[in-house]
Amino acid sequence: MSDSSTFHGWGRTAPSVGRPVTATANGVPHLVRRAGPRGLIARGLGRSYGDPAQNAGGDVLLPLPTEIGAVAADGTVRASAGTSLHDLMAALLPRGRFLPVTPGTRYVTVAGAIACDVHGKSHHRAGSFGAHVVDLDLVIASGETRTVGPDRDPDLFWATVGGLGLTGVITAATLRTIPVETAYAEVSTQRLPDLDAVMAEMREGDDAVTYSVAWIDTLARGAALGRSVLSRGEHATRELLGDRGDLLTPPAAPRLAVPFTPPVNLVGSLGVRAFNEAWFRKAPRHRTGEIQPLATFFHPLDGVAGWNRVYGPHGLVQYQFVVPDHEDAALVRILEQIAAARLPSFLAVLKRFGPGNDGPLSFPMAGWTLAYDVPAHPDLAPLLDGLDDQVVAAGGRVYLAKDSRLRAGLLPAMYPRLDELRAVREKVDPDRVFRSDLSRRLEI
Ligand SMILES: Cc1cc2nc3c(=O)[nH]c(=O)nc-3n(C[C@H](O)[C@H](O)[C@H](O)COP(=O)(O)OP(=O)(O)OC[C@H]3O[C@@H](n4cnc5c(N)ncnc54)[C@H](O)[C@@H]3O)c2cc1C
Repeated sequence: MSDSSTFHGWGRTAPSVGRPVTATANGVPHLVRRAGPRGLIARGLGRSYGDPAQNAGGDVLLPLPTEIGAVAADGTVRASAGTSLHDLMAALLPRGRFLPVTPGTRYVTVAGAIACDVHGKSHHRAGSFGAHVVDLDLVIASGETRTVGPDRDPDLFWATVGGLGLTGVITAATLRTIPVETAYAEVSTQRLPDLDAVMAEMREGDDAVTYSVAWIDTLARGAALGRSVLSRGEHATRELLGDRGDLLTPPAAPRLAVPFTPPVNLVGSLGVRAFNEAWFRKAPRHRTGEIQPLATFFHPLDGVAGWNRVYGPHGLVQYQFVVPDHEDAALVRILEQIAAARLPSFLAVLKRFGPGNDGPLSFPMAGWTLAYDVPAHPDLAPLLDGLDDQVVAAGGRVYLAKDSRLRAGLLPAMYPRLDELRAVREKVDPDRVFRSDLSRRLEI
């Protein structure tokens, strides 16, 4: 392996050069003890959009080898930190089990999902990934391995859940799983004419469904502001599917790939407006009972490997924030500014979160979260800086797994329990062995 590599996040906006290092779980303590002055950060599959999994001038630990244990009688499963959720689902589904929380891609590692405390369409019911971790093994700065969980060294556990790799290297975790009868979802789709309508529908109806998320047309303005396609689902039962052959076949690997980065951004504004219009119009007014493979329902983008390349050499930014439940007005104002900016975005989703957990750097909190993908462009900076201020004023925060540009000064207001994470780091990593471009940028 070469001595240095360029690392970037999924958005490809802020590359830096670090030293890739590899190890099995047993070799991690040695690597941690010998980390140089620029420290070490563990990396998963690089699906965070910004810079949490890179470390300019320092060590970047690549994912540990995949290892998946048997499903225990209580439905828990033990997996190595580097196991992808794709591989885990492939092992679980034939046994009639699934993960209670899956993000919008299954190409993330178990450790990456814990370190960002990822959420899925089930957050209002199931909470985030960390809520389903029974325990995890963590190599701290001294090289010692600690097994921690909600009942065992809870401060270190919760600092690690959402802690962006800054408390140590996770080497394995035990996770809870849920029973499923099939690898399909029963989906309902509803076209809603504006933001009020989609918010009212989610407020009234989400509690009764397991999975819920709305695609939003961020280019629609005026009376159509926030027009949406709301998609909800449940795990399909065996009875519903009848005789369809093997009902527990796991999702396949992608068959298509974007083979190289085109010299220009292919997500142009005219094309996106037409796409959004067509996407909205083609959605059924209200359809229920559609059967979709779980991969189609949860991970539609995983069908094309390397889709982020279509944004060209400058990459993309995903801006995701949450504001508390009662801050509807802030959400409306922010969406108005996004729509007025006319930036080409075909991927924007709205979700209603349930309550957050004890992780001081965990993102979810009860309220509304909007995730907005947009090509990187200098015009974005003033827009997003302005939105950050409004998010803070509303008592909300941005999601650090998606961030590459937040100003450090806003972090304590967004994450008021930041000092709890710092106190834990002071105890287990006083010399700050674990560092990343993000931790330096945000002065964590
Ligand atoms: C298409 C797409 C859809 C997405 N949808 C969602 C979504 O719906 N919900 C959501 O919450 N997120 C979503 N994400 C973000 C993604 O789920 C998270 O960023 C996730 O953490 C990425 O995991 P990874 O394995 O790629 O980790 P990386 O991005 O490589 O790293 C993420 C963090 O994990 C830390 N880490 C990695 N391995 C270890 C380890 N062994 N020990 C300690 N720390 C470690 C890194 O240091 C870093 O801080 C999406 C991303 C994409 C590209």
